[in-house]
Amino acid sequence: MYPEKSNLYRMPWSMNDNPIGWVEVTDVCNIKCKGCYRLIMGEGHKSLDQIKEDILFLKKWRNCDNITLAGGEPILHPDIIEIIKFISGLKLKSVILSNGLALTDSLLNRFKESGLTGISFHIDSTQIRPEFNKQEISSELDLNDLRLNYAKMLYKFGIYAHFGITVTERSLAEVPSFIEWAVENMKMINGISMIIYRGLPVAEGVEYYARGKKVDIRTGSLGYTDETEKIEKPHIKAQDVYAKIKDHFPEYGASSYLGGTIDHRTYKWLIGNIIVNDKGKMFGAYGKKTQEIAQTFHHLFYGTYIVYPKKRIGKKIFLMTLFDKSVRKALYKFLKYVLVNPVRIFYPINAFGIGIVQAPDILPDGRIEMCDDCPDMCVHDGMLVNSCRLDECRIYDSFLHIHVDKEKHPETAGQSADPVES
Ligand code: SF4
Repeated sequence: MYPEKSNLYRMPWSMNDNPIGWVEVTDVCNIKCKGCYRLIMGEGHKSLDQIKEDILFLKKWRNCDNITLAGGEPILHPDIIEIIKFISGLKLKSVILSNGLALTDSLLNRFKESGLTGISFHIDSTQIRPEFNKQEISSELDLNDLRLNYAKMLYKFGIYAHFGITVTERSLAEVPSFIEWAVENMKMINGISMIIYRGLPVAEGVEYYARGKKVDIRTGSLGYTDETEKIEKPHIKAQDVYAKIKDHFPEYGASSYLGGTIDHRTYKWLIGNIIVNDKGKMFGAYGKKTQEIAQTFHHLFYGTYIVYPKKRIGKKIFLMTLFDKSVRKALYKFLKYVLVNPVRIFYPINAFGIGIVQAPDILPDGRIEMCDDCPDMCVHDGMLVNSCRLDECRIYDSFLHIHVDKEKHPETAGQSADPVES
């Protein structure tokens, strides 16, 4: 079960007015992640001048609120401090996507002085990490101590900490435990996201074309080509992750979404914020009106839409009861909870962000469905391209087109219309 689109706020983000500007600063990395969007081709670090040019391009053409620094591992870029200072000088927020491995207290101190807003950690069981002697990591929960260590480091310096995982068939069952862990530590963690794994299948009967010419795709041609990926396989969808969370936390709900570029039924981004106190007691989630007000007012007063708030809203979220029936329900539960023991009114409360992202899907006719008004676009050859498919442009000078032989793959799965919440 998942929410009806009419009960959610469709984020107002677009190609030219989008809170995120994405810059890939390096193709150097210090670990290996399954399904990484980036093939390490030995290009090394992008020059500081080129990075500054990309940032100015994004500020101009994206009207962004933050610059997300990605790669490779951005922390390894020798000019990372200069890059952060440049972003701060433009009065933009800066967020680094990192696996954490190269992070030290002294580096964090310099990040703080340079004005870094936050770090979004990618730490999950699809990775081969030196902390685990490069052995396979069997459970997401085995990584919680490592995650907590990084959360504590950032908390010391007052830097925003976000954690993301890639969700696979194997790890879907662990999503609720990951959320429980994050909520338990929400004093130090600002939000989490779950990105559903996608690989490009390498299989007989699946052909790839670039600029009209057939190209030979095999495992390793791109970071995300995968010979274990079966095109017929019914993939996990955003609504499956939503349902898994909702089953365990009935108070959870999404407030907003981004759909797909082809199928009107697809959910690509599902964004939710649970209202929860520091004892892990959930009261509800905010609804579409709160998200609409947040986006509209941020745009009105600051000129941009928003994805990373600088401050926690705390109990002020209950002011939204005037407009948002989901918050009204949460307030009612909160008051009942406080009546049992009035001391509880002093427990800190937060609207904790939970994001779900469904990466590109191959439809039965071979078309690839993207996120409508993709937030994670970067600059390539003077044009904006979806960062999840940047490598196709780097290597083949265009996005790939796919031809699926129906005789060899008669059961190719498409999107199905699942039941919705009433
Ligand atoms: S289309 Fe954009 S938002 Fe969606 S997965 Fe790709 S880069 Fe991310």
